[in-house]
Amino acid sequence: MANLAAKRPLILEIKGNSLDDGPGIRSVVFFKGCPLACVWCHNPESRNPAAELAFDPPKCVDCGECRKICPDRALSRNHPEYVARSKCRLCFLCTDVCPSGALERVGRTMTAAEVLAEVLPDQPFFDVSGGGITLSGGEPTLYMDFASELLRMARRHGLHALLETCGCFDLPRFMDLLYPHLDAIYYDLKIMESAAHKAFCGLPNERIIDNFKALLTAARRDGKLLLPRTPLVPGITDGEANLRAVAAFLSGLGVNQAALLAYNPLWHEKSRKLGIDDPLKGDPAMSAFGDGARLERGRAIYREMGIDPTG
Ligand code: SF4
Ligand code: SF4
Repeated sequence: MANLAAKRPLILEIKGNSLDDGPGIRSVVFFKGCPLACVWCHNPESRNPAAELAFDPPKCVDCGECRKICPDRALSRNHPEYVARSKCRLCFLCTDVCPSGALERVGRTMTAAEVLAEVLPDQPFFDVSGGGITLSGGEPTLYMDFASELLRMARRHGLHALLETCGCFDLPRFMDLLYPHLDAIYYDLKIMESAAHKAFCGLPNERIIDNFKALLTAARRDGKLLLPRTPLVPGITDGEANLRAVAAFLSGLGVNQAALLAYNPLWHEKSRKLGIDDPLKGDPAMSAFGDGARLERGRAIYREMGIDPTG
């Protein structure tokens, strides 16, 4: 992936009133672009740093306006997915004329000031709940300069700031540009065996592991929250061997709390709207929401190994 650190990201969404992305009520800023390529990514629209065209068939009222305006004849009722992606040049003219929102541009250009302006109206809710702003994605650390500017502005308004990260970043730049402006970091540890991490997430995990250790030292020194998190993906991350390996790694570092995240299969539907190849489509194990039994099995392993499981 090209070096994006100095570039302005596309923003996928600014989601207010979130209760799932840190303490209290939060506004979550989703960045577009990620260095990993997890096969189960629950936000597939966040992987590609470039803008994308989404088509949602149930919303289409078949008015034909998009077919009339498309300069590349990329839209056809005869095409199985309606959008012939190989012909589409991503001009987004069709999204301007679509009356129902069936065709949508995914990813918008914003300045840090514009992002903050959308977040600040919720500050009264942050103040009463202990919430704040969360940077998520995708991977905000792909855009160090932009994220740093946004965090510094948020801090000037007294907002609690949290980052959700895959841990795959340049550590010196992170410590210089982002770390000083963060109160808390939620840090993904998905797969402990590096070859399996590469197979399922696109890159080996040594950098992620090394960054976690360095951040843990800094967070302990500075009294910041560093919460490791593992998504329970059926047959990939939720096996006993992997969960024991994560727990052993953490307890070896003296960490006694970590989150386990229930699996969410809605990414299949999101992939379909974007025309993203989904090799796991139709796999029954990957099509159901994570159940309580699976979560409880993971929690039991963590407790047995001295880790207090949250989530
Ligand atoms: S984005 Fe442009 S080229 Fe692609 S389908 Fe829409 S109008 Fe056609
Ligand atoms: S403009 Fe929108 S509603 Fe009309 S045919 Fe195209 S996708 Fe469907």
